[in-house]
This record gives sequence, structure tokens and C-alpha cells, in this order.
Amino acid sequence: MIPGARLIILGRQGAGKGTQCVRLARHYVVPHISTGDMLRAAVRERTELGLAAKQVMDSGGLVGDEIMIGLVEARLRRADAETRGYILDGFPRTVAQAEALDAAVVDKPLHTVIDLVVPREVVVARISARRVCRDCGTNYTATGNDPRVWICEVCGGDVMQRDDDTPDAVNRRLDLYEEQTAPLIEFYRGEERLETVDGVGHPDQVSHRLTTVIDQARYAAG
Ligand code: AMP
Repeated sequence: MIPGARLIILGRQGAGKGTQCVRLARHYVVPHISTGDMLRAAVRERTELGLAAKQVMDSGGLVGDEIMIGLVEARLRRADAETRGYILDGFPRTVAQAEALDAAVVDKPLHTVIDLVVPREVVVARISARRVCRDCGTNYTATGNDPRVWICEVCGGDVMQRDDDTPDAVNRRLDLYEEQTAPLIEFYRGEERLETVDGVGHPDQVSHRLTTVIDQARYAAG
């Protein structure tokens, strides 16, 4: 049987966290729990939570700890997470959330906390080159030799740069991430629970680095 895993993945925007979380979820057969995805779904469905979260999310701020802790605790109580484990992506974002999580999982503690590290200039370049079809959402990468009017190969829609993918906007988002996440990194590092993994390279290579570190942590936990 494939053993599950209980993990947190931290990493700045554009570090490849989304791609790697999907792969790890498949590898360990655990749910990928992204609080950003949960909140975006709530916004789409116009639930009470979605209505409350939308403004905060648009401004780049953080949704209140109490709401987020309640949301994640309820998710972790579901059968898949209870039996197999989970990959938390986007949670915790604050030390208060990290402490609440430790209290909630005291019977089955986390195996490890991973910081997926990609230098800032690399992610700015990656995100600034990102183009997306306005109609079907297919992603493209700009190379500098791109057509002036770029038509999507999948659906024929217009391929554009998202407003928040320009270097200025990306730098603002990264500043915010650093400001918000630095105390959390210090929290886990101080307790020697943080593993740093190099996120530069082919996605297969990065996945291999991640599973090596995770398997070691699980082995050490017994
Ligand atoms: P993400 O997709 O993880 O970047 O999340 C998008 C937005 O959702 C963030 O900018 C926050 O406004 C909100 N959000 C997601 N996770 C959390 C969290 N753990 N605590 C507070 N706000 C969150």
C-alpha cells in the first residue's frame, strides 16, 4: 500500500507550487487542499464566505484567521484527509493559523513543512512571460517573437497578458507574500520543522527532490 502524507507546502507565486502539489497529491494519494481554491470557489458560488472574502482577496489582504481556521479544520475532518493525510497549499499564512493547525492535528502531526524556493528574478520572468487565452484559459509562454495578434490554438480566442501578470504587479504581489510569510517561515525554522527544496529545474527533477525529502521526513517520524 502507498503510505499517505501530511504536508504543508510554502512557496512564492510562480515557484511551481500548484504543479508540484498536483503531482504530490497523485503520488501519495492524498487530497490537495488549497485554501485559495476553496475561497475562489466560494466567491464563484456567492456563498456568505465568498461575499465576505472577495474584497479582502482583491486587495491582496488576508481573510481572518478565525474563518480560515474553521474552514481548514472542517476540511481536515473529512474521511480522505483523516485516513490518507493531505497537502496544504496556502494555509497556514499566519503564525496564529500555524498554531491552530498544530493543535488540530496533535494526534497525527505533520510530517514536514516544505519551502519550495525559486529566486525572485526567476519567478518575475516566468510570470511576466505568461499569456493566457481570454476564452478558454489555455496558458502560453511569450518568447519575444510572438504574433502581434495572438490567436489561441485550442479555441481561436484572443491570447493576452493578465493585468496582474506585468512585472510591476508581480513585484507588488511578491512583496506582499514576503511580508506575510516571513514570520511563518521563522516559526517553522525555529522549531526545526522546515525543509527547503530547490524549485529550479525541470518539474520531474523538482518532484524527485520533493519526494526524497518527504520520504525521509516520514521515515524519521516512524
Ligand atoms: P492563493 O491562491 O493561495 O494565493 O490565495 C488567494 C487569496 O486568498 C489570498 O491572497 C488571500 O486573500 C486569500 N487566502 C488564501 N489562503 C488564505 C489563508 N490561509 N489565510 C488568509 N487568507 C487566505
